[in-house]
Amino acid sequence: MEATTRRNPLAQRVQRVKPSGIRRFFDIAATMENVISLGVGEPDFVTPQHICAAAIASIEAGETHYTSNYGTLALREAIAVELQRRVGVTYDPAGEIMVTVGVSEALDCALRAVVDVGDEVLCADPGYVAYEAGIIFAGGVPVPIPTRPEDDFAPRAAAYAAAVTPRTKAILIGSPNNPTGSVISREDLEGIARLAQEHDLVVISDEIYSRLIYGAEHVSIASLPGMRERTLMLNGFSKAYAMTGWRVGYAAAPRLFLEAMLKIHQYSIMSAPTNAQAAALAALQHGEPDVQTMHAEYERRRDLIVRGMNQIGLSCCAPKGAFYVFPSIAATGMDADTFVEKLIAEELVAVVPGDSFGAQGAGRIRCTYCTAYEKIEEALERIGRFVARHHV
Ligand code: PLP
Repeated sequence: MEATTRRNPLAQRVQRVKPSGIRRFFDIAATMENVISLGVGEPDFVTPQHICAAAIASIEAGETHYTSNYGTLALREAIAVELQRRVGVTYDPAGEIMVTVGVSEALDCALRAVVDVGDEVLCADPGYVAYEAGIIFAGGVPVPIPTRPEDDFAPRAAAYAAAVTPRTKAILIGSPNNPTGSVISREDLEGIARLAQEHDLVVISDEIYSRLIYGAEHVSIASLPGMRERTLMLNGFSKAYAMTGWRVGYAAAPRLFLEAMLKIHQYSIMSAPTNAQAAALAALQHGEPDVQTMHAEYERRRDLIVRGMNQIGLSCCAPKGAFYVFPSIAATGMDADTFVEKLIAEELVAVVPGDSFGAQGAGRIRCTYCTAYEKIEEALERIGRFVARHHV
């Protein structure tokens, strides 16, 4: 329907946000047959059966009502145990943990809880597409922190330090990172922590890929001295347990922050889906072998795709985490949009232009390896043919 008002009826902060660069290519891919998608960042595994069974049991037990705004106490208790065990930080399930509709909602609540109009928020470039959008929706100003191929795109503390101004309110980190798979080193996290304390900044830490790390350790910035009190830690079930469709995540933070986030959550969402919370509880209680199995398979696929991209001539580092590679397409002389459009038209492989994730992603593409090993092999063959044809 055409708008009938004379002035633009849409809020400026919404107009300022571009639609996600990822979606455009999926829409094209959806109209074609025999496309191999290395586009979507979502596990190809079906949620483990015992986790599904817990949700079915919850429905059959008549659990069809809202839960507490915080989420079920049983799930919050299990999350507290998990965080104590895996990141070494203690949170009180009564008041310091809130169950959300994925990390997506936790991120939105975190940003809206701390960002005032005009506040600057530092976040790595390239970075997850929702970061910049979320900051703008909250009224803030995203400040991209460049990362470099020489560092395998791992954000460096010095780059954050160079960007701090009197308007800086928060640092938003995602480690492991989407789209590069980079992991921030302990040393750089310590540098970021010092910076946050010196300038009295809040840190929002998206740790959704914390269980998908290869040969490196996951360090939560909240576990560093003096940081628990100024960190909003976000995590969820989508990636590690192959539960994207269930929409469950959580935030853990000191009461001051958690209560502010809860206010937003309770007025906009009420509570995360009840049966999905039962599933998430089963995931924490019995899902560890599934996480290990899927992790081993992702690692095998990562080695395949990194080796394959480099053999093809698309130079690519071995990411330390998540399930993405971020190769350079310089060998083809094309910009990323042209590469992606031609690749899907000529060889039926869907990938995402690197600059959808920020200016530093120019000349690169993001490919996921959360698709079957054999499909990745076939995709590499197709990409190999394509690059050989277009090599400059
Ligand atoms: N954070 C990052 C870095 C992601 O890559 C994603 C999903 O791709 C999300 C958050 C959103 O996850 P959820 O399904 O928990 O909302």
